[in-house]
Amino acid sequence: MHEASIAQNVIESVLRLIADGTVQGKVARVYLKVGKLTAVVPDNLQFMFGVLAEEGPLAGVKLEIEEVPIRVRCKACEEAFEMHEEIRLICPKCGSADTRFETGRELLIDAVEVD
Ligand SMILES: [Zn+2]
Repeated sequence: MHEASIAQNVIESVLRLIADGTVQGKVARVYLKVGKLTAVVPDNLQFMFGVLAEEGPLAGVKLEIEEVPIRVRCKACEEAFEMHEEIRLICPKCGSADTRFETGRELLIDAVEVD
């Protein structure tokens, strides 16, 4: 279950921010941006975060997950389009298959809120 290792990473990253003084005070919320390409299930991640944080200094901290849609950019005509349920890598405007992912791979801590 890859949410467990991601949750562990988030916890370690926040603890590092506390240790180096970037974050000061009692952490209340951690805001996370998660791209749809990561295939992370937000509910699972939230659950694992709660379980893994329970015994440490981040016990009770809320994890707020913002899902980032998958955006594809056409290299031929610069058209950008979003992917929803279907995987579509062909440009709807010019038909080119020369496209790249612009967003959707994100897995990062956006903000840490303290009381
Ligand atoms: Zn195109």
